[in-house]
Amino acid sequence: MTQIPKKIKTWQMVQPSTKNKETGEVFPGKIESTEIPVPELKSGEVLVEVAGCGVCHTDLGYFYDGVATVVNPPLTLGHEISGTVVAGDAAWIGKEVLIPAVMPCRQCYLCKTGRGNRCLNQKMPGNSMGIWGGFSSHIPVPSLDLCEIKNRGGIPLANLAVVADAGTTPYQAAKRAGLQPGDNVVVIGIAGGVGQFMGQIAKTLGAGTVIGIDLNEERLGRALKYGADFIINSTGKDAATVLKEFRTICKTNDLPNFGWKIFEVTGARGGQETALAMLGFTGKLIVIGFGLAKIEYSISRLMAFDAEIIGTWACLPEYYPAVLDMVLKKKIDIDPFVETRPMSTIRETFEEVHKTGSPARRIVLIPDF
Ligand SMILES: [Zn+2]
Ligand SMILES: [Zn+2]
Repeated sequence: MTQIPKKIKTWQMVQPSTKNKETGEVFPGKIESTEIPVPELKSGEVLVEVAGCGVCHTDLGYFYDGVATVVNPPLTLGHEISGTVVAGDAAWIGKEVLIPAVMPCRQCYLCKTGRGNRCLNQKMPGNSMGIWGGFSSHIPVPSLDLCEIKNRGGIPLANLAVVADAGTTPYQAAKRAGLQPGDNVVVIGIAGGVGQFMGQIAKTLGAGTVIGIDLNEERLGRALKYGADFIINSTGKDAATVLKEFRTICKTNDLPNFGWKIFEVTGARGGQETALAMLGFTGKLIVIGFGLAKIEYSISRLMAFDAEIIGTWACLPEYYPAVLDMVLKKKIDIDPFVETRPMSTIRETFEEVHKTGSPARRIVLIPDF
């Protein structure tokens, strides 16, 4: 039975992280448990009871690194959400859904020309959708972009939250890359929360060869079971050394030295330098990871190589059903990459993920108010 709550319970970021511009020192924000009256739903809106909300590096950027949210705090963070519709549009009540991490306006030029994932008026829970975010008992959202979950078998609804960002962002990246069956792919950062999806999705979309690069031997071993055909451990190696190993793999396996699609997921300087070094004839470098490094590169190489560098942001809601289908049909495995915890551990969990940088599994917080 679905139930409309009296109040929405939520973990609100009451104070953002702040940065001292002179010293560069950053101070973390503050999160408090609080209750908010249930808002009156506008036409086209529904109230979703949150089953789970994934912890993303973007949340930590707001909470620790001085990255500003579009809506000034207080607001609730969290944009990787699954749940059940409990109020609003009758056609949706009782349905299990994914809430897309970004919801385009559907009115602007970008939206009308297929670039809605980068719509400038888009709404993102935990950033630009009023005070609302996923680390809550409930969240009001427009129903237009919801992705219905049907026949999820034994997969817990909370676990499916990771599809709504970590799983779909790589899919959009594959689309931006024009990934075709038989294409050869490199995933830099294949052992991380988004990278492992990138490897699995590339393979599911028919990639001929997937080479995974990362720093953790054990997790690289895991990648071999989930999409990667070859792995390179880049620990302590500069871009030139990794490039040499890549070329050896190509030579010994009769793989071409052109046309590689390189997905850079880490956002770290080392990963980006490696990606640029590997970008060769008719290649494409797709930038998914976020970082602050500034790297020198002679861009005329792109001319000589007839190559491209492409940025990619989030994912169009219309692609969500395709990714969800891959998960439900077990073409992509999520269970080995998800860990659930009570939402009341939010402070400790943020602290832990911030410290370790890249946890072995994506953490999904389950409301336990
Ligand atoms: Zn995210
Ligand atoms: Zn738009």
